[in-house]
Amino acid sequence: MSTFCGILEEKELAFIGIDSFESHMLSCSTFMLSHFHKDHMCGIQDQSFQVAFNNIKNNMLLYASPLTITYLKRNKTINLREDKLISLEIGFPNLLKVHSENFEYICVTLLPAGHCPGSVMFLIEAGPHRILYTGDFRVQLQDFKQFKALLIDKDGNCGPKNISALYLDTTFASKKYYEFPTRKESSTNLIKVVEEWLDQDPNNKICLWMPGYVGIEYAIVEVAKHFNCKIHVHKQKYEELYSSIADLDNYVTPISTNTRIHACSKNECDTDRSNCMELNKNVKCVQLNALAFTKDVIDTAGHVIIKNNITRVCYSSHPSCKELREIVRFLNPEKLYFNVIVNQTTKEIYNILTENNWTPRTPKEDVNENTKVILKLSNKYKFNQNVENRTEVAFNKRPRLESPERE
Ligand SMILES: [Zn+2]
Ligand SMILES: [Zn+2]
Ligand SMILES: [Zn+2]
Repeated sequence: MSTFCGILEEKELAFIGIDSFESHMLSCSTFMLSHFHKDHMCGIQDQSFQVAFNNIKNNMLLYASPLTITYLKRNKTINLREDKLISLEIGFPNLLKVHSENFEYICVTLLPAGHCPGSVMFLIEAGPHRILYTGDFRVQLQDFKQFKALLIDKDGNCGPKNISALYLDTTFASKKYYEFPTRKESSTNLIKVVEEWLDQDPNNKICLWMPGYVGIEYAIVEVAKHFNCKIHVHKQKYEELYSSIADLDNYVTPISTNTRIHACSKNECDTDRSNCMELNKNVKCVQLNALAFTKDVIDTAGHVIIKNNITRVCYSSHPSCKELREIVRFLNPEKLYFNVIVNQTTKEIYNILTENNWTPRTPKEDVNENTKVILKLSNKYKFNQNVENRTEVAFNKRPRLESPERE
């Protein structure tokens, strides 16, 4: 659950508002939305935001990926002027005109975040700042190494560009969640569970529990491909969202009959009057979840646990602690900020992400008890803001859009 306040620490960039639309954001003009999960959209339905945003004099614009923009336009509770909702292609640098005393333009590149459909990370370049805001993400280190917008050629070797600040999804920055299976591995585990159940009895059905509005679509597609069938989803969600995703449309259906695999909640199905999720001895509920899979649980029970008629399969759409450590080490940012701080201090998170092993060590002097934590910048990647950089950015190739994990 994001605890990011919406405004970057860099004072010169205070006109940018990310993943928050609450009253303290009304002085911003350049808004960005990383994905359409509720905790990143606080305030977007408020009258005060909609009135301010829709006022043409306010020069407010909202940037997001094409799918997120489609969702915003289709959702009936969000009433924002469509000509102010700007979709940016993923993988390309965009020069955006901004309303700021300090900058006329900023350069923004969207990178695929692998968290849910349409989710992106924002690479923001403005003057001396090169900021990577991850939103929520699940991207492996190998794939970071393929994001051209983040890379620079140094004496024939590709290394990361200097990142002046990294705003990181620290949902699982805890020793308890040291390692998760990749989404591909999780999907394989899920397929095994489903297969076993469906093979037992021709009347058996599977109910995949949706953790929220979106989030397990990658697994849905893998299951549909394996069993060569479409998976039932709620009609409203299908019309509002899934039907507009080419990769997904082939694997889901709003019609509940003729399929033994469902990804719809009971409430959703009731409105369809199909009652397909009515629990009985032939229905197995499967929950894709990461929270329950602490290191201790995985060590003893593995990646699948059965509890009270519910089969849980370990599946995470956020990086594990180990993945976070690898990514921080690779990007080696000048400054590091944490987007999720719950029941931990920033110092604790900082230590977990940067220490060489799990033995406690004395905190660095420049680590204070605030949300701003400074990492030492290695000399290897000195900041280099010159014309060459800009040209390189402009010629970047498009990174892979979907399936951010290597297979
Ligand atoms: Zn979130
Ligand atoms: Zn999210
Ligand atoms: Zn159903």
